Amino acid sequence: MALRKTGLLNTAGTPEPVNVQGDRSQIPSPKIPLALVLFGSPGSGKGTQSKLLVRELGIPQISTGDMLREHVRNGNGVGTKVEAKLKAGILVKDEVVNVLVEERLAQPDAANGFILDGYPRTRAQAEMLCRMLAARGIHEVVIHLVVDYNVIIARLTGRRQCPVCGTLYNDISKPPKVPGVCDLDGAKLVVREDDREEVIRQRLEAYEKQTRPLLDYFREKGKSLYEIDASHDAPEQVFRKIEALIRKQ
Ligand code: AMP
Repeated sequence: MALRKTGLLNTAGTPEPVNVQGDRSQIPSPKIPLALVLFGSPGSGKGTQSKLLVRELGIPQISTGDMLREHVRNGNGVGTKVEAKLKAGILVKDEVVNVLVEERLAQPDAANGFILDGYPRTRAQAEMLCRMLAARGIHEVVIHLVVDYNVIIARLTGRRQCPVCGTLYNDISKPPKVPGVCDLDGAKLVVREDDREEVIRQRLEAYEKQTRPLLDYFREKGKSLYEIDASHDAPEQVFRKIEALIRKQ
C-alpha cells in the first residue's frame, strides 16, 4: 500500500508509521492499495478501530454515518432527505449512500487505500462497492468484528459523545475523567440521538436483516473475509489482531 505521510511503504524520505504505542510499526508493505472494510454490528468498535488504523496506515476513514451526520448538521439537501431516517435508526436509501461514497473515493487521498466504516450495509451497496473497487484495481479485505449481543447493548446504551469535538465515551469501558464532561474541551457530554433505546433496537434490527447477510455475499464472491473476536479485548488488543491480518495481505 503506497502511503503518504505515515505510510506503510518506508521509501526514502518517508517517515515510518508510528503505532498506537508510539513506537515504530512493523507492518510490512501490502502489495497494492487496500480497501479495509470494517464490518460489524453498531457498537462493535468499527469507529474506534478505524481511528487507530488511520493513525497507523495514513489512509482515510470513510464513515458513511459521519458523512450523513455532517450533511444533517449542514442542513443541506441530502441532510434534509436523510435526517428522519438517521433519527429513527433506519437505513438511508442505497442511491444516496452510494453517491456519497463514489464521490468520496474519487478524492485524491483515497487513491492509495481507505478504511470503510459502516459501508456497505446492503447487498446493493456491496455490489456497487465491488464494481467501484474492480474499476480502480483495489483489493478489499473485509474484517468482521464479532461482538456478543449483550456487550453491544451495554456499549450502545452507555455511549456518550462530546457535541463539540465528537469524542466518544462509555460509562463503563471509557468513562471521562469527570462524569458527563469531555476530557478534551470540558463540554457537557450528550447521548447521540440514535443511541436512545428504541432507536438502538431499530439499528440492530436493520443490521440483522439487511447487513449481516452480506457475510454470505462476501463468501460467495470469494472476498478476503476475516473474523475477529472483539467482545472483551481492549481496543488496542483488537487493533493488534487487525494489524496482524493486514501483514498477511
Ligand atoms: P453509523 O454511525 O454507521 O451507525 O450510522 C448511523 C446511521 O446512518 C444509520 O443508522 C443509518 O441511518 C445511516 N447510515 C450510515 N451508513 C449507512 C449505509 N451504508 N447505508 C444506509 N444508511 C446508513
